[in-house]
Amino acid sequence: MNNFDYYNPTHIVFGQDRLAELDQLIPADAKVMITFGGQSAKKYGTIDTVRASLGHRDIIEFGGIEPNPQYTTLLNAIEIVKTENVDFLLAVGGGSVMDGTKFIALAAKHPSEDYHELLFHGFNPVPANDAITLGCVATLPATGSEMNMGGVITFKEQKYPFMSPLVFPKFSVLDPDLTKTLPKEQIANGVADAFVHVIEQYLTQPVNAKVQDRIGEGVLKTLIEDGPVTYADNDDIDARKNFIWSATNALNGIIGAGVPQDWSTHMIGHEMTAQFGIAHGRTLAIILPNVLRERKEHKRAKLLQFSERVWDITEGTDDEKIDLAIDKTEAFFNSLDIVTNLTHYGIDDAGIDSVVVNMEKMGLTALSETGDLTLDIVRKILTATR
Ligand code: NAP
Ligand code: FE
Repeated sequence: MNNFDYYNPTHIVFGQDRLAELDQLIPADAKVMITFGGQSAKKYGTIDTVRASLGHRDIIEFGGIEPNPQYTTLLNAIEIVKTENVDFLLAVGGGSVMDGTKFIALAAKHPSEDYHELLFHGFNPVPANDAITLGCVATLPATGSEMNMGGVITFKEQKYPFMSPLVFPKFSVLDPDLTKTLPKEQIANGVADAFVHVIEQYLTQPVNAKVQDRIGEGVLKTLIEDGPVTYADNDDIDARKNFIWSATNALNGIIGAGVPQDWSTHMIGHEMTAQFGIAHGRTLAIILPNVLRERKEHKRAKLLQFSERVWDITEGTDDEKIDLAIDKTEAFFNSLDIVTNLTHYGIDDAGIDSVVVNMEKMGLTALSETGDLTLDIVRKILTATR
């Protein structure tokens, strides 16, 4: 196992009927901005319940944070936060609202108005000294944003990740009932996103990190069991709770502590969202199977472990076990009605070309945990996915 620091200060408030506790979670004298997305949080009454919980606090609402949050939308919120002296941000929504709110929190304290400077540091922490405190009411289990220090913002039609320990949410309320209004395809996307978060950290070069591996395997097995139940049955609350907690644990830092991390599926996926508008989780499910096939030799040891421990495959040669595990992973995504070929999404050779060209422009030329996944390999992966 490699050396690591592990730090996670987020207070998780998990379970049904807990929104009233927002009153104790947010300082009584706080000036609060509630951030939310296009319409779901309003339409389904979550904003009303949240407002009622906050009593007489001074509240500003900022709605309209779209999926794959746009820099230009967030600029408006940053302006209001600064002029109105907002000192607490409460994100009510999915990954896009939580990520957008993290960006607002950092930008509002940024010394210049060139907020985009916060976006060009990849997976290194952004150089920042201060941020507005934020909390979350998470309505979509997928990204893990409710318990991590990262976000992804769309700036000039490209997706940029940013990281800062200053934007760990102070708390996140995870109420399974709030997720029952999600359209089915968002559940499928969420299962895929959480699944691939584990894979990016677990299916890398082995460093004998037994605890991280076993937590990762537990999360994957739970997603395989309870993802499809949640997808099919809106009323199975136990499955839903396990799915939600899986998604949070998939990307709260614990699985990734002291292990090499890949993230190439995410980097390719971001480009596919930016260019073709395919939802984040879905892009990952489309790409991952052929990333694993292409990287079979590179990832052989962990792929075998994945096959035996996650898919319980005990028969056959090592090659057969690995191939079957990858096929089962793809079939799992397909069972959630995610089609895993590019043609279905109207992406042809020219589309593949433009993905590769844009990745080159972004400097994404040496991906994976070992930095040897080149753009030629990206092209092969995408061509195999047609
Ligand atoms: P999302 O983009 O936040 O939301 C997708 C859709 O779900 C929105 O249209 C939203 O509608 C709707 N929605 C949310 N909650 C709902 C509910 N309870 N009922 C009905 N509809 C609801 O989806 P996401 O998958 O959570 O987030 C994706 C973003 O996170 C991407 O930008 C991705 O790059 C990023 N990401 C971040 C991390 C991280 O660590 N921070 C990790 C992976 C991905 P409304 O707008 O109407 O509310
Ligand atoms: Fe993701």
